[in-house]
Amino acid sequence: MEPVDELVFTILTQHTSDVNGKRAFERLKARFPHWEEVLDAPLEAIEEAIRSAGLSRQKAPRIQQALRTILERRGRLDLAFLQEMPLAEAKAWLRSLPGVGPKTSAIVLCFALGLPAMPVDTHVHRVARRLGLLGPRDNADKAHDLLEGLVEPEEVYPFHVYLITHGRRVCKARGPRCGECVLRDICPSRQV
Ligand code: SF4
Repeated sequence: MEPVDELVFTILTQHTSDVNGKRAFERLKARFPHWEEVLDAPLEAIEEAIRSAGLSRQKAPRIQQALRTILERRGRLDLAFLQEMPLAEAKAWLRSLPGVGPKTSAIVLCFALGLPAMPVDTHVHRVARRLGLLGPRDNADKAHDLLEGLVEPEEVYPFHVYLITHGRRVCKARGPRCGECVLRDICPSRQV
């Protein structure tokens, strides 16, 4: 996915499932094939197109403002330039856009631009806390930078995938399967 597409898609998936976000994204693209058209569109038309993502009254202006800010600052709707920046600067640039927090920025940097940013979803956050990689006061926003710092840059993406997979299959939110967990000998939260 192009980085701007990834950004819009990720805003749409905030507080909803990927399935709902994808449906809204496809509808939005069908209604406005070029992002420039979203800039001048009435908010109601954007809201209507993205309704399946939920919170459309917040997400429609958020998307429009983020696109406007990119255009104002860069003169074009393109985020490929972030690839040439040091990671910390690229993160700061994205996070300064309206409606873009650590998770959205990490997703764009990691998935669309291949940079070693660590997206922290609910699975990553839960597993990292149970394993003692994060402290009880390290919220998900803080966790992005903390977890990234634990591994080499080339290991950030696999680390992200392993934590998500482990959280989905074994270290579930309710009823972690500690008895069959390969990490049970080193995990401070094991329940067996
Ligand atoms: S031992 Fe239990 S709590 Fe620890 S990582 Fe494995 S499943 Fe999660």
